[in-house]
Amino acid sequence: MKKSINLLIGTVLTLIFSVSIYIVDSYSLEKDNLELLILNNKYRKELKREIENINNISKCNSDDQECIKLSSSEKNLNYDTYKELLLRNLEESAIEEAKLEKIIQQEKQIEIKENNLEFIKGQWPVKEYEEVSSPYGYRVHPITSSLKFHRGVDIPAPENTDILSSDDGIVIFSGVQNGYGNVVKIKHFDGKVTIYAHNFINIVEEGDVVRKGELIAKVGSTGDSTGNHVHFEMIVNDKNIDPITGIEDI
Ligand SMILES: [Zn+2]
Repeated sequence: MKKSINLLIGTVLTLIFSVSIYIVDSYSLEKDNLELLILNNKYRKELKREIENINNISKCNSDDQECIKLSSSEKNLNYDTYKELLLRNLEESAIEEAKLEKIIQQEKQIEIKENNLEFIKGQWPVKEYEEVSSPYGYRVHPITSSLKFHRGVDIPAPENTDILSSDDGIVIFSGVQNGYGNVVKIKHFDGKVTIYAHNFINIVEEGDVVRKGELIAKVGSTGDSTGNHVHFEMIVNDKNIDPITGIEDI
């Protein structure tokens, strides 16, 4: 009984989601494409979670007599139909997302051409902490003491301070990497990439669409680090640049 209720709730939620997407879609002229992309992205995440749930509950726990009592054909019929619907929605939303992504990229390219820019500048990733303890360029590495190129800037801030996305974009990596510790990498719609490293925790996941100024991680000292700070990198046309030159005037 509990499982049928779960299934029903799931179906109703999916329907509400589909309807809300439809409504938003019909007003798309008034909504900006990024908003639609974010909505679509959240919906797709929800679908993935639901499919995972279905995969889990269609396997009976050995101590769940209620689940075992259902004949397997009866159970599978329900789950299979529902799963099929979810998978179809997932496929459609992925296509929609790719379409929106392309449109936003084109909009940015127009903005770049019209203003004769190389890329679109972003915002500083930590509020109220503007000091740089270690600039971009050659420096004596604080841990190895050897002369090494520093590909970003270090911004000291207390542990757990919010780290904000420098611009609108899509998270291309969120996890742990050698040296970087917890690191978030974001690909922006104009093509630039920003990197935020040594985080205490990462808030966003790979595949998330983020807005400029959105919370993506918290300041920490993970990886090769001697204190709480954000190591912030900016990559334009596959080359690291001094992030200071890629930040808009306040
Ligand atoms: Zn650094």
